[in-house]
Amino acid sequence: MYCYDFHVVMQEVPGEISLCFTISGCPLRCDGCHSPFLWKEGSGSKISEKAYGDILHRYFGFATCVVFMGGEWHPEELVFYLKFAKEQGYKTCLYTGLDKVNQKILDHLTYIKTGAWMAELGGLSSKTTNQKFIEVKTNRVLNHLFSPH
Ligand code: SF4
Repeated sequence: MYCYDFHVVMQEVPGEISLCFTISGCPLRCDGCHSPFLWKEGSGSKISEKAYGDILHRYFGFATCVVFMGGEWHPEELVFYLKFAKEQGYKTCLYTGLDKVNQKILDHLTYIKTGAWMAELGGLSSKTTNQKFIEVKTNRVLNHLFSPH
């Protein structure tokens, strides 16, 4: 699994400071994709257990959640890194363009954002969006937390 970039983010998971890993090789090819540079598998650097562990260790106590932007196309590796994050005391989140992911992945998520990007419907803050931000344990849709009002 290759990480195109890493950022500390505040908006992607409401109420959390998140360590955000963007994974390359997205196979979905949504029309109007805002990040076509993520389509190529192998862009960025290969995630290593050591580098990932060091980042989680460094930010522990400041950040509270680990977010993967994609990566569901590498289910075993993704589950490994989600489990690792949970064991270190982090919440976990996946942003996927799919409507559903494998239950084995879901079992290790606190939150999931589902749905392909459709420009005409808008993102999570749009009333017409096809995308959902869900608390996995309760299956509650939390899109209202992204609303500006
Ligand atoms: S899921 Fe995201 S990165 Fe992948 S094609 Fe769609 S918009 Fe682009």
